[in-house]
Amino acid sequence: MKTLIQGGYVVGFNGREHQVIRDGVVAFERDRVLFVGKQYTEPVDKKIDAKGCLVSPGLIDTHFHSGGNASDYLLNDANKVDYFASNYLAHGAPTREGAKHAHLKDIDVGQRFSLIHVLKSGVTTTLEIGGPGTTPESYVAMVDEVGIRCYTGPSYKNVNFFQDREGRLEYDWNDERGSEGLKKAIAFANKFNGACNGRMGTMLFPGHVDTCTPELLKETRKAAKEIGVRVQIHATINLFEFHTVMRLHRCTPIELLHKIGFLDPEVSLSHCIFISGHSWLAYPYGDDLKIIADSGASVAYSPLKYLKLGIVMESFDKYLKAGINMGIGTDTFPKDIISDMRYASLCSRVAEKSFIAGHPRDVFNAVTLGGAKLVGRDDLGRLQKGAKADIAIINLKDIAFGAVRDPIKAVVETAVSRDVRTVIVDGEILVDNGKYLRLNEEELLDKVQAKGEEVWKSVPNWHWTGKGVDEVLPPAFKMS
Ligand SMILES: [Zn+2]
Repeated sequence: MKTLIQGGYVVGFNGREHQVIRDGVVAFERDRVLFVGKQYTEPVDKKIDAKGCLVSPGLIDTHFHSGGNASDYLLNDANKVDYFASNYLAHGAPTREGAKHAHLKDIDVGQRFSLIHVLKSGVTTTLEIGGPGTTPESYVAMVDEVGIRCYTGPSYKNVNFFQDREGRLEYDWNDERGSEGLKKAIAFANKFNGACNGRMGTMLFPGHVDTCTPELLKETRKAAKEIGVRVQIHATINLFEFHTVMRLHRCTPIELLHKIGFLDPEVSLSHCIFISGHSWLAYPYGDDLKIIADSGASVAYSPLKYLKLGIVMESFDKYLKAGINMGIGTDTFPKDIISDMRYASLCSRVAEKSFIAGHPRDVFNAVTLGGAKLVGRDDLGRLQKGAKADIAIINLKDIAFGAVRDPIKAVVETAVSRDVRTVIVDGEILVDNGKYLRLNEEELLDKVQAKGEEVWKSVPNWHWTGKGVDEVLPPAFKMS
């Protein structure tokens, strides 16, 4: 079936860069784009009117956790008084005896909800770290049903974190845990690469620079090259990690990765905030930025996660200027990649103390071409003949936008996920008129709310204080 999208601002790709075509058209058949331009005269089976809309390549989210869904967004929220804003340690480290209650991953409700949530913000490709849990087949089947394109694999590490009843953090090291995890990750990568009708790509995800031994990281790099998949690792994500690596290895996390030969163009670094020179570090030595740029590794920056913690990358512009390929991730909740473009842009202005930093062009490139480069694809993140028919249509005809002169600036400065009207993946319309078509959203939301209640109720079972959620994280006002 041939479909023609007509009448909007089409973001075409001219082989080098994006170009906006006023009153443009995009024709696609099955999973591929046939034509992008001003006029398409051949007969088509279906027409989509995109007047007043931006017709964009599907957006790419380069750091996503479906486990971090609505049910536990409270736990990712404010009040991180301990661990220097290392939020996942403050709220992700259960007591030993409570550990089995702490991770309520749920494929059918929470994870499915998160994937639909991010898809509805215009994301057609997401990179999900550690998505598959103990039943990988069910996870892959769920991704297939949702319809999104997904790069994923289980995550693994040597360390488990626990807190004792005083709230002290314990790093529970175990060499075998790491190598067993890698083995399972390799098996997943081999088995499911190309699953979901080609929409699933697999990768290796060692946890963090301070939770994996250098040996595990070297084995990861070797295995990834042997089986032909890419790697992403959480790197320089909090002060705890920086100081742990500094104490154990007498160098920065980036220097350690460089020293062990981990960094190259097939690797991406999640977050990558605390590199040498960052104002929170008081460490004015070395040049981590140059090390990353010289290696060709990409960075996946999740601005909202850090804004919530009062931290900005220093800076998005500086990384780009150094020559680093930049992607943007949603990571926390809400997972709204369009707002994340705006956050990345504004954070860069704050970091640079310059109102010309964080250009809309650069953040739009990051969620399209940058994301595609990060996963090694030249048929994603762009609209040109032969590219995948992954398309997001964003409505700009709304009081919220007023008069539109430059649709990219309008989206970066004003749009949110709820302005996304249509999402197409592999030529399949998954979201139309702002509604996800493959299930009843209301029913899903009821289940998500019930799941949320379950998670909040479980807090005393695993939190070191033994206290309830309202004491650990008080609501904004008293609730009766
Ligand atoms: Zn993460």
